[in-house]
Amino acid sequence: MRATAADGGVRCMAAVTTNLVAEAVRRHQTSHTVAAALGRTLTGALLLGVGQKEFDRLTVQIASDGPVGGITAEADAHGRVRGYVRHPKADTPLNSNGKLDVRAVVGEGMFYVTYESGYDIGLYREPYRGAVPILSGEIGEDFAYYLIKSEQIPSAVMLGVLLRARESGETFIEAAGGVMIQVMPGADERTVAAIETSVSNTPQTTTLIREGARPVDLLRAALGDVPFEALSEQPVSFVCQCSYERAVSLISSIERNELQSILCEDKGAAMTCHFCNETYRLDEAALESILSGK
Ligand code: ZN
Repeated sequence: MRATAADGGVRCMAAVTTNLVAEAVRRHQTSHTVAAALGRTLTGALLLGVGQKEFDRLTVQIASDGPVGGITAEADAHGRVRGYVRHPKADTPLNSNGKLDVRAVVGEGMFYVTYESGYDIGLYREPYRGAVPILSGEIGEDFAYYLIKSEQIPSAVMLGVLLRARESGETFIEAAGGVMIQVMPGADERTVAAIETSVSNTPQTTTLIREGARPVDLLRAALGDVPFEALSEQPVSFVCQCSYERAVSLISSIERNELQSILCEDKGAAMTCHFCNETYRLDEAALESILSGK
């Protein structure tokens, strides 16, 4: 949900992402700590992109030295997101509060946001890229730090993933979601102060979601007595653009000799998409048909 408060001086976004985070975790078979890190990054990218009409896609890239080795999330303005991490199985012990230690699994490094536009209409414009050092590694704070340092937008960003292990050992995502509140230049100071107080007192996003909160409820909890106006609401999902056809077209771009040797030696080809971990297998017949078309 996208909303506005303080006569347009404050932009608010909220999302419940439980299902899409579960889909990402199922696809990438991550450890619990990486599930939290990836889920927060996917949710943050969605909130950053939602409702912004002036770009086709935005990429959040966390290039860090922790065990996860890096996280990438790509979102559009329509609630679609996909993403992956370098080392899905990486893990760290619980922190001193008995919580998943996202900070430790992420480590130190850089936080990049890239906005790209023009693809859809065949006009490639120079991408906008912002970069800040990783401030905390807890992800929510890193989005807020990026927004103030790179886009000069003071923000509150709350991102959460609540999970547990099923008896089978499989990860069960109980709740995931987030809230992003951005203060535009000239926003009424008293309203902003009221929002700051209310945000600092709001219960954890995932606690509210587990109790059944929808995005509008998350905003109400974050904004307290400050009235807001909902602008739009849309579904969110984990969507990847890869397909068998794209895999075929990639294989088709391989040189004839090399393709011939793949056919002779491997009797087929397999390609795995980084973003969604889907594997596409081209059998002998498919390779022969590509070769005969060359
Ligand atoms: Zn894919």
